[in-house]
Amino acid sequence: MNNGCCQGHVDIAALETRQRRVLTYVLVINAGTFSMMVAGAAHSGSSALLSGALDNLGDALTYAMSLAVVGAGSAAKARVALFKGLLIFGAAVAVAVQIGWHLRHLETPIFESMGIAALLNLAANLLCLRLLYPYRNGDVNMTSVWECSRNDVVEGLAVIAAAVAVWLFDSGWPDILIAIALLALFLRSATRVLGGAWRELDTAHSSRA
Ligand SMILES: [Zn+2]
Repeated sequence: MNNGCCQGHVDIAALETRQRRVLTYVLVINAGTFSMMVAGAAHSGSSALLSGALDNLGDALTYAMSLAVVGAGSAAKARVALFKGLLIFGAAVAVAVQIGWHLRHLETPIFESMGIAALLNLAANLLCLRLLYPYRNGDVNMTSVWECSRNDVVEGLAVIAAAVAVWLFDSGWPDILIAIALLALFLRSATRVLGGAWRELDTAHSSRA
């Protein structure tokens, strides 16, 4: 099973103009959703929203940096990938600290704002899926973006389930548990990508020497 997400690299140079445009839309939607999720997490006190926002950040950075390194050499690409990996790792550590803090000071998130942010997130994920639908059987690049987007819908549903459970049980625990699960999935794929970038950078260096 494809576990986390789309933290890999997209070879934009290989894509057609139409595909690049769709990818730019998906990038903008993910960046907007990231900001919305962080605001929703701050308002509601939900850790699951914050964990979910990590994926949007990772996706937006992946597409932005893939667009930025079109035509660059492999060493430059690996450096950019490494920089992105460190950036999202830092964000993940910040989320882990926030979860740890909530574990000690357990509060029930505000269900209304948590639910609204979770629904907006799912709507954004579904919109991306709709935009990418025509490319689901295309080249390897777009297919991986499509698969990633499909995982995002599943994650969006998990955050909604957390919001519903918070409301049902009037407890902060469902929020914390989903937050930890999403963070673990995210870290797993982020670690893999970081390792890949490191090895690529190593190869690029030794092939030049
Ligand atoms: Zn994603």
